[in-house]
Amino acid sequence: MTNYLKRANELAIANIEEGGQPFGAVLVKEGVVIGEGVNEMHIAYDVSGHAEMIAIRRAQQRLQTDDLRGARMYASGEPCPMCYAAMAFVGIEDVVYSASVEEAAASGLMRSQEIYEDLKKIRTERVLIQSYQQKIGGLSPLQVWKNK
Ligand SMILES: [Zn+2]
Repeated sequence: MTNYLKRANELAIANIEEGGQPFGAVLVKEGVVIGEGVNEMHIAYDVSGHAEMIAIRRAQQRLQTDDLRGARMYASGEPCPMCYAAMAFVGIEDVVYSASVEEAAASGLMRSQEIYEDLKKIRTERVLIQSYQQKIGGLSPLQVWKNK
């Protein structure tokens, strides 16, 4: 367990040396590393280039599955809300990290903390303006889905 977390930290430190942010992740299932990643946002304009997202993507491609239940994520930093949601969507229920979002914020990387705080608010008070417009005419995709 500690070795996987240590590996995630080593990946994160190597990524700093490559010009990236200090985040690495190792995804393990049944004692096997099924995906690794580092924050690649310095390489490509891709908001999903977080270490955990990349580790998940690689594991899914490797195992050809949408179901990663039973896998444990080892991350150098506490997952951001996007990565948290991705883990939830794919069934990962266990994450171990070595630095909290509060510690990241104290190091100048505060977006995760800000977004977690925003998500605690009710919809109408969040930063993202969300407009619910139910009656726009045409078919409802959800109704089509339900009738399928
Ligand atoms: Zn993330």
